[in-house]
Amino acid sequence: MKISTSRVIAAAAAFAFVAGAASCGKDVPNAEQSSQSYTIAGGEVTSTQPASEETTSSGEETEDTTSTTTASGVVVGEPRVSGITLSYTSADILVGQTLTYPLVSENIPEVWTSSDEEIATVDSVGNITGKSEGTCTIRVVSADDSKLGAEVKVNVKKGSGVEVNNGVTYIDGILVANKSYSLPESYNPGGLTPDTYAAFQELVQAAANDGISIYLSSGFRSYELQSQIYNNYVSTYGKETADTFSARPGYSEHQTGMAIDVNIVDDSFIGTPEAIWIEAHCEEFGFILRYPYGKQEVTGYKYEPWHIRYIGKENAKALRAEADKRDDVNLTLEEYLGIDSYYH
Ligand SMILES: [Zn+2]
Repeated sequence: MKISTSRVIAAAAAFAFVAGAASCGKDVPNAEQSSQSYTIAGGEVTSTQPASEETTSSGEETEDTTSTTTASGVVVGEPRVSGITLSYTSADILVGQTLTYPLVSENIPEVWTSSDEEIATVDSVGNITGKSEGTCTIRVVSADDSKLGAEVKVNVKKGSGVEVNNGVTYIDGILVANKSYSLPESYNPGGLTPDTYAAFQELVQAAANDGISIYLSSGFRSYELQSQIYNNYVSTYGKETADTFSARPGYSEHQTGMAIDVNIVDDSFIGTPEAIWIEAHCEEFGFILRYPYGKQEVTGYKYEPWHIRYIGKENAKALRAEADKRDDVNLTLEEYLGIDSYYH
């Protein structure tokens, strides 16, 4: 049996029970490779065994089954589950925040425990709630065989720097809008915030002095407008692809009034003198490049050299200092604040 801990899916919290000796020593099969799969707790139960030997996890018995299933769904007889794989092995969470595993199937034979319930608790379906600052381990084991299990290291960040005001999350004073922290539908500054607008004017002027033309292509977008944009992309590209470049309504940074797309809003902007200037200078005016190169797993978005976010000069300077300290020029806001970004 192998418990794979290498696969990280930022977009979804999922785990898989791996069934059958055939999968031993291999990476977890995905749903396409399996003869049958069930969605549980936001993830998948996969089985590579032939249907005739299949036993459902939901308590139903399939025809021609060679083993029996108890009323609670626990498989008796020959062991079927050879491993449990978590799609992520560490998670950052705030005090009071819950990582939700949607319960879509009952009677799954799994047992969740926390190594320290004062730091984070976990319920019977894997919803993890931060309680106090620290690190602990959340473990899930098969109810069939407690030797089969997997772990998530949970880092709970102190809540003192976190303020949730009318549904809007501020961390260390910075308003956060990403795939983990949404904005309420009612949040509507009506346009770019005055500070953002003034800082952008300053940036445009400085760029012009360097012979670089920067202009605003997209600034504030309301919840309703984002809703239309996102739904259009979904109907053209499908949800999975749309999620890599367009935010769902309530999750767009443009709704903050502090995000701006400059110039050309597509990949042809990459490497242009304007893009290079923005990357080199935007922090001098309190902006950061919000979705830097190579950080899609962290931010939840592909490289967007045109999307800048105003966080104020002090914060931008502090982020740059931290980036230098960590020797990572592409340090993201998520990494700086110690948070994640994926649809829970
Ligand atoms: Zn943008």
